[in-house]
Amino acid sequence: MIEFKNVSKVYDNGSVALDDVCLTINEGEFVLICGHSGAGKSTLFKLLTHEVVPDSGTVIVDDFDVTRMKRSKIPKLRRKLGVVFQDFRLLPNKTVSENIAFALEVIEEKPKVIKEKVSHVLELVGLTDKANDLPEDLSGGEQQRVAIARAIVNRPSVLIADEPTGNLDPDTSKGIVDLFKHINNFGTTVIMVTHNMDLVSYLNKRVIRLKDGRVQSDNMRGAEINEA
Ligand code: ADP
Ligand code: ADP
Repeated sequence: MIEFKNVSKVYDNGSVALDDVCLTINEGEFVLICGHSGAGKSTLFKLLTHEVVPDSGTVIVDDFDVTRMKRSKIPKLRRKLGVVFQDFRLLPNKTVSENIAFALEVIEEKPKVIKEKVSHVLELVGLTDKANDLPEDLSGGEQQRVAIARAIVNRPSVLIADEPTGNLDPDTSKGIVDLFKHINNFGTTVIMVTHNMDLVSYLNKRVIRLKDGRVQSDNMRGAEINEA
């Protein structure tokens, strides 16, 4: 479970990123975060990964109080969270397999286990035949699938995606969110930032709208919002 209790964050330059935010996201939920640029969406994610610490309030991820956590526990926290970005962030000189394997090498997984897990996750995202290609040889949608494979290969309890379809065309975007739905169906909590109202209504999941660092609404599903 993820919980934000009265969380506020003001950056050093005085920008108010989050102002007294309270949210609970249960295990296994699929939640969309919407809001204009500057609304505080990225800050919300950075609080989860402990890239940013709040000025006040508490952030809980599973049993961890992220706000009062020792530095030495950060790697353990980050293993609970798979992260996907708009710009994929793949390593350009590594193949598809190597990009995914890298996430397991850094936690010193055994080579045999790495091989098995990479092959399993490539199948899951439908890229088995691209295993030895470099990112530059793939389409945008395929690159994002590699990034998703890398994010879930350690079986995180939460997948967070910051505008994962921002660089993709509408059909490819639907394929990506279908993959998120699939991942969500086997129990992973999914939290996705999107500006794309077509995807919001297509998914028809809980929508949290942020505005100027505050929760503007958190009581609707995608289809209702587009009707409103
Ligand atoms: P969003 O992801 O919704 O665009 P952000 O969380 O990135 O929103 O930003 C929220 C507010 O905090 C904005 O006013 C932004 O300019 C400010 N902000 C974000 N990151 C920083 C930073 N590192 N330093 C100073 N201000 C920041
Ligand atoms: P199991 O009990 O077999 O692990 P799950 O319900 O966890 O079943 O998963 C269903 C299917 O999805 C299985 O084939 C499982 O291996 C696969 N799967 C679930 N989560 C992940 C993940 N994060 N990475 C790769 N494969 C996964």
